[in-house]
Amino acid sequence: MFKALVVQKNEAGETSAAIEDVSVDRLPEGDVIVAVEYSTVNYKDGLCLGSGGGLVRTYPHVPGVDFAGVVESSDDPRFTPGDRVVLNGWRVGENRWGGYAEKARVKADWLVKLPEAITTRQAMAVGTAGYTSMLSVIALENHGLTPDKGPVLVTGAAGGVGSVATAILANLGYEVAGVTGRPETADYLKSLGVSQIVPRDEINETVKRPLETETWAGCIDAVGGPMLARVLGQIKYGGSVAAVGLAGGANLPASVVPFLLRGVNLLGIDSVMRPIEDRVEAWNRLATDLPMDKLEAMIQPATLADLPRLGADILKGQVQGRVVVDVHA
Ligand code: NDP
Repeated sequence: MFKALVVQKNEAGETSAAIEDVSVDRLPEGDVIVAVEYSTVNYKDGLCLGSGGGLVRTYPHVPGVDFAGVVESSDDPRFTPGDRVVLNGWRVGENRWGGYAEKARVKADWLVKLPEAITTRQAMAVGTAGYTSMLSVIALENHGLTPDKGPVLVTGAAGGVGSVATAILANLGYEVAGVTGRPETADYLKSLGVSQIVPRDEINETVKRPLETETWAGCIDAVGGPMLARVLGQIKYGGSVAAVGLAGGANLPASVVPFLLRGVNLLGIDSVMRPIEDRVEAWNRLATDLPMDKLEAMIQPATLADLPRLGADILKGQVQGRVVVDVHA
């Protein structure tokens, strides 16, 4: 038996989450059983802890779209007991049981061995948010971004994706500007390396002019919606925007003019179905490019019992930095 946070749905369609003792034979099929040590909270987890947001197919359900832990047993030769592993995405925690439990059974193809320099706790401080930030930095670099090109904008800067993106970019020598709707996070953002804070209200309106002053060499955007549309018109000639999230909305009320007259690139970033080579590259880069002292400063520790509250908070945009859930606490 092991402990898990189980979400149930009643006949009226209402969901509720509670910690339960679960037997190993109830785990989904897979090649590897992982003794989970830490998980975290993503926007999708907020949905899966509540109504399901159309992501959860069957109940009872164990959410948790990412986890880090130690291999307990493996039917796949690539893994042996004791290996430290991380899992991000693959719809784990959405359409199958995830990381809000002391054990998880998954396909070996989905696991990445952690670099020596990253502990399982740090891996979940990075989480899917941080791993996706790294994928975004790599995408911008592959499209020519270098620190000498000018400042890089990070939207939703005080959130998970934004915090890790800021710390990585600043560590790589970029000048980072952060958009936030929470002025009280200014000191936190500066400690991560933001040199300019852009108030959300200043940049969250629908595009008035398709082209504005060329300001940003690149952008990592966790917000989408009107803000992304507005940012596109402020990107310097040939610059790129990595579109990661939709915290501000899924619509893109934009003009194509920045693409046509300034050669601006809009780069889609998916972390969930990402091929394994890209995942390994991102985790190896995180081991070298993310300063672990800054990561430590982002951590908000939590337990399985805290998750229903934290899930509601993240849906309201009220989580700062990175929640690390110790599933044994
Ligand atoms: P968080 O909730 O931690 O951060 C989102 C941030 O966006 C908030 O902290 C807030 O930043 C800002 N924000 C929230 N609501 C609004 C709003 N209405 N208008 C403008 N800004 C807003 O979430 P994550 O960082 O974990 O994830 C960010 C986004 O990225 C989510 O949409 C998530 O689903 C997506 N995502 C996508 C992935 C992919 O594979 N493409 C992987 C991981 C996440 P502030 O307070 O500083 O303004």
